[in-house]
Amino acid sequence: MGRYTGPVCRRCRREGMKLNLKGARCQMAKCPIEQGRPVPGMHGMRRLRKTSDYGNQLREKQRLRNQYGLQEGQFHRVYEEALRRRGVTGETLLQLLETRLDNVVYRLGFATSRAAARQFVRHNHVTLNGHKANIPSMVLKAGDVVQVRDRDQSKNAARQAFEGTAAGRVTPTWLSVDGEKLRGEVISIPTREEIAPIVNEQLVVELYSR
Ligand code: SF4
Repeated sequence: MGRYTGPVCRRCRREGMKLNLKGARCQMAKCPIEQGRPVPGMHGMRRLRKTSDYGNQLREKQRLRNQYGLQEGQFHRVYEEALRRRGVTGETLLQLLETRLDNVVYRLGFATSRAAARQFVRHNHVTLNGHKANIPSMVLKAGDVVQVRDRDQSKNAARQAFEGTAAGRVTPTWLSVDGEKLRGEVISIPTREEIAPIVNEQLVVELYSR
């Protein structure tokens, strides 16, 4: 599976907003968005042209995809799954992204960014309902319990991230976390309001429905 290996902050600059892709660094004054750095590219300063409907839809899709760190193929598969399920496709898409195992690990504070959470899961540092779980794209449901594995390497890494992000972290209402036991639970599937998306997901649906 390919993955993006270029400069991470460039993605935020392209979207003109903080996507919080780098953990603690995103809260510092060094963040290029905080510094007002322009859109990347030679003509970044000049790009104030009017965008088409298609351009707006594409931008929203890229924002959402980059926020969760997915490649186009992976993202499109999530969309197709949302389409198959009952309910409002846009909201279902957000729910499927938000309840991915790597995102839940990030939201619980056991990793400082989604990229770090993905690696944390991949390296077998967590269990799901007491069983091995090393697939970041697993979609969790209400009642699922994520536990950092009981070994020094796993606990130290999770504790360091948990303490390091404590100041700026707000645990979502649909999750509960026990920082002592390094254990978290999905209380319910989040609603759109609880997710508070940074995009208008309806435009993403419109883009893929073309
Ligand atoms: Fe870089 Fe984080 Fe700022 Fe984005 S939010 S530009 S990833 S430091």
